[in-house]
Amino acid sequence: MANISLQHLDKIYDNHVQAVYDFNLEVKDGEFIVLVGPSGCGKSTTLRMVAGLEDISGGRLLLDGEDITAAPAKDRDMAMVFQNYALYGHMTVYENMAFSLTLRKEDPNVIHKKVLAAAEILGLTDQLNKKPKQLSGGQRQRVAMGRAIVRSPKVFLFDEPLSNLDAKLRGATRREILLLHKRLNATMLYVTHDQTEALTLADRIVCMSMGHVQQIGTPLELYDTPSNLFVASFIGLPPMNFFTVKVEGACLACAGFSLALDEKEKALLAPYRGKEIVLGVRPENMAEGGDVCVRVFSNENLGMNTLVHGHIMADNGDKMPITCKLRGWYDFKAGDTVKVAFLKKHFFDQKTTNAIRAKGE
Ligand code: ADP
Repeated sequence: MANISLQHLDKIYDNHVQAVYDFNLEVKDGEFIVLVGPSGCGKSTTLRMVAGLEDISGGRLLLDGEDITAAPAKDRDMAMVFQNYALYGHMTVYENMAFSLTLRKEDPNVIHKKVLAAAEILGLTDQLNKKPKQLSGGQRQRVAMGRAIVRSPKVFLFDEPLSNLDAKLRGATRREILLLHKRLNATMLYVTHDQTEALTLADRIVCMSMGHVQQIGTPLELYDTPSNLFVASFIGLPPMNFFTVKVEGACLACAGFSLALDEKEKALLAPYRGKEIVLGVRPENMAEGGDVCVRVFSNENLGMNTLVHGHIMADNGDKMPITCKLRGWYDFKAGDTVKVAFLKKHFFDQKTTNAIRAKGE
């Protein structure tokens, strides 16, 4: 069992920088939580507070109901995997993996069994006598994971574990971490700036910006119903397109296009009549054959889809950039025009930046 309760956590560093504000999260036993956000948003600080590597300035931290807010790192029964692997260069893979158990003066037979079992899980059985410098980056990261596994901790903490790997290895190691989670059924907290890692790994994502939690939810919830402009722009690749539009009676209008609203949308946007809002449309939620006229700038064939970068030409001469991901193979040339339809729209309040949703949604 390993439930973690993060209650109103604040972190203020000695230089008075507040890195984390009022962080609240209930992590269930066996859950895979990913903290995601741009560099400097407070993800690592939050993880390090959980690990006991940073003091907690305010709030409480509970592990299985026990208050561990002030407990030293070594008493927390958590294992952390770092971006830079933090392996000992002079030790073999075996010795690196056995190190924490040797320190704890565990029975050598038990240590041996645990190291072999972890090596088996991670496909490192043939590498046990090598030194870290003889291994690839991906293998080194697996040794770092092995070192965590042998301790059988209650909680695994990962701080950007894939950042030092090249793109191909990142994908493969990501899938290994997912399998590892299934196999160990352990509670995991994972920090990354990469929204793809968040979407593919998490049971639930915590999206952060400037020390504040922006939204907590399943990957689908964050993708489908982002709670504000920040989450909408951070989750999804290529990112969502945004347009400032005016809500008129039965349509949304801007200098470049006018879109009819259906009855549900009319009701939803009734309080905004005569005002400007932000319309968000994901590139993949577009199709050829609508009312929005796009002047093509570049055409990228991805196989199943074509990525079209272009501009919506406004009546007043303004150019509004737009990226469309159209299903199928197109060969547009720069300067061509294509008419697209918006298949799914997201609406945001311009002042608060919050999503405009019907009550209960
Ligand atoms: P992230 O992991 O999201 O990149 P961090 O948690 O590392 O962000 O940092 C959050 C903020 O706290 C940043 O503004 C960073 O400069 C600041 N910060 C991090 N560590 C320290 C420290 N030891 N002393 C002072 N400020 C720090």
